[in-house]
Amino acid sequence: MSSVIAHGVVAAPGYASGPLFPIGQSPEVVALHPADPDRERIRLTDALAAAAAAIADLMASAAPDAAEIIEFQQMLLADDSLAAQAYAAIGAGTDAATAWAGVLTVEIAGYEASPDDYFRARAADLADIRDRVLRHLTGGSDLRPQPGSILFGVDLAPSAFLAVDWSRGGGIALSGGSVTSHVAMLARSRGVPMLVGLGRVQAAPGDPALLDAERGRLVVLPGSEERHEYLKASTGYLQLAHAARAALPRPAVTADGARIDMLVNLAHADDVSALDPRHCDGVGLMRTEFLFADGLPDEEQQYTQYRRILEWAADRPVTIRTLDAGGDKPVPGLTVPEANPFLGLRGIRLSLSHPDVFRTQIRALLRAAPHGELRVMFPMIASIAEYRAARALFEAECLALRTAGTACRLPPLGIMVEVPAVAIHPQPFAEVAFLSIGSNDLTQYVMAAGRDNGAVAGLADPAHPAVLKLIADTVRFGDAHGIPVSLCGDAAGEPAQIPRLLATGLRSLSVAPAQLAFAKAAVIRAPAAGGEDG
Ligand code: PEP
Ligand code: MG
Repeated sequence: MSSVIAHGVVAAPGYASGPLFPIGQSPEVVALHPADPDRERIRLTDALAAAAAAIADLMASAAPDAAEIIEFQQMLLADDSLAAQAYAAIGAGTDAATAWAGVLTVEIAGYEASPDDYFRARAADLADIRDRVLRHLTGGSDLRPQPGSILFGVDLAPSAFLAVDWSRGGGIALSGGSVTSHVAMLARSRGVPMLVGLGRVQAAPGDPALLDAERGRLVVLPGSEERHEYLKASTGYLQLAHAARAALPRPAVTADGARIDMLVNLAHADDVSALDPRHCDGVGLMRTEFLFADGLPDEEQQYTQYRRILEWAADRPVTIRTLDAGGDKPVPGLTVPEANPFLGLRGIRLSLSHPDVFRTQIRALLRAAPHGELRVMFPMIASIAEYRAARALFEAECLALRTAGTACRLPPLGIMVEVPAVAIHPQPFAEVAFLSIGSNDLTQYVMAAGRDNGAVAGLADPAHPAVLKLIADTVRFGDAHGIPVSLCGDAAGEPAQIPRLLATGLRSLSVAPAQLAFAKAAVIRAPAAGGEDG
């Protein structure tokens, strides 16, 4: 039988070989007609309670990142409006399982149809809740994959991920899915290779398969040549991973002697719990969106988190970015649906249009500043007027805090370079304290290819000469005006891109903590040709 090869998008890098284990089928709903409403109501109440107890058990043994995801499911399960609709259907004569499946399926379809990547990615959480309750109603059981299996289906629920023992290998291959989903975040942080967007793949449960989540390939029923190729590539990857771990405590110095600052990107304050600050030169980007995931945080909540990171980093610089909501990052109660959100009210535009929310964040940052080496940057800056308006708010709040006798400090204020206008014409920005290139957005705007759209993923290439030219121009502008320049987009963490980035003259890269070792190893191997030190 000949092999089947499918191509997808890498959501978490690595290799896995093993049997395919199908996931994601909802338990079959068998209608019990005629239904006795009283009995069905009790059955649903019991099933909801049992599902909540099972989730609470998972929560008790979960790591902080997973706990947050489980908490989100607990919140969904506690949403009375879902249960109320199901109880209403039971009252009209439907059995509990059909009623619950019907309500949740409509809700899931709503999430899936959302123009918003964030909400689409949360549909898997809802499906997980639906199936968990249905299993209690239909007496179904959770089948566990063999260790080392490749989980294969349309999408994977976070709790299904957490129920698997990944310590003995394995991977995830999804025909749908999304790189921004909760489960993709978990896979990256646990080092489980994962591909999404594979489309229809002809395969049967138990078929042997090879998952190459470096090049984005799933090979089902591989032949000897494909196995040989896989072995070579995965061995190379393992050697690289081993070498990378050795690079972690070392300073990042290129083959020709240039010292590169290696900073980390934090998406959450908990990211630092497993990270040794001595392995990096500071924080190049702390995204503050996580603080706004459940609504607007108050000044004290923000201050506590910012201070925590500053104290962790001690005397290393910590660059915190003001709220970058909008686009692919909606914030309930703040962002509004827009026809074209990536070109709309996002980043600094949104903050300036909500000065009350912005001022709260500014005060928290000003008060945290004396606890470390804080620097603050603004996202999505397109004009110097935006920078000056934001700076004026920092100065006004700093004055107000000082007048009230509150300890604070005005930190250096910089900007993200991610709107092409800034990279093409940087001259008005000579007054900013630092520049940080957001290659994710810069690439999507230069190439006119949405960063969340798998269909144009090939175009959204940060190594395109047009993007590299703008990066080099920005570095040159910074050097000429004594303004430090760093790059904090995902390209900085991709070993293959690092030599190209260094060749633009960049000497500071900021990467996700999980990529730090690989990125450092890539720097150590690379020449710094093209820059001042090269
Ligand atoms: C970027 O755009 O490259 C960036 C670092 O910011 P974000 O990915 O949060 O938009
Ligand atoms: Mg960006």
